[in-house]
Amino acid sequence: MKIPVLYYHKIDYPKSTAVLKGLYVKPKQFKLQMKVLKILGYRTITPYELLLFVKGHKLPFKKPILITFDDGYKNNYTYAYPILKSFDFTATIFISSGCIGKTNTIMEKNGKENQAEDFLDKKNIIEMSENGITIASHGINHYFLNELTDDGVLAGELLASKAILEDLTGKKIDFFSYPYGAYNAKVMRETKNAGYKGAFTTNKGKIAVGDNSYELKRISINGHNTILNFLYKIIFLH
Ligand SMILES: [Zn+2]
Repeated sequence: MKIPVLYYHKIDYPKSTAVLKGLYVKPKQFKLQMKVLKILGYRTITPYELLLFVKGHKLPFKKPILITFDDGYKNNYTYAYPILKSFDFTATIFISSGCIGKTNTIMEKNGKENQAEDFLDKKNIIEMSENGITIASHGINHYFLNELTDDGVLAGELLASKAILEDLTGKKIDFFSYPYGAYNAKVMRETKNAGYKGAFTTNKGKIAVGDNSYELKRISINGHNTILNFLYKIIFLH
């Protein structure tokens, strides 16, 4: 058996000015996807449970799946969280801690997206953390970590983002997702040294027993995916 880990960005209606429209999965689309998972008997798990599976423990569920969100957009709280709750599902949100409570300029700075976006505020994060959502780190500034030449900056992205979120939630922050899916051997090593138990990439595929905990694969779900694309990715992709 292999476990699918899905990753989303925005659950919202794409703004007409947005360049990367695929990053938006409409709330209606997301709700249908969750409904299909429920009907098929999937059980959402935490990254802790995923790690147990990777290390060879048998999970007591037939169809485990991990749902994740990158960046920490406000719409994860506004749209995704109520839908997840309605299906009794949980998820993991990887937060860029430098963006908490702000309106995004990160993608604008990187010249890939011109669309300003609201991020989760402290209150949203605390509420979700207290209600079964796993809060995890996506660094502070959404840097390409593999391109950082200053070791202090890399350590800061990993350690300070962890500390900020631990301080906010009062819980251990044990998982990381590499911004842009960009990493190398050094980034993996430093992520481990910073105290994370595992890290997620954007490499396509499902999770198998024995996989490297700092190089966990995921499956991208974007706004262009029909329900058939979605099912194909979950059921047939390896
Ligand atoms: Zn990101």
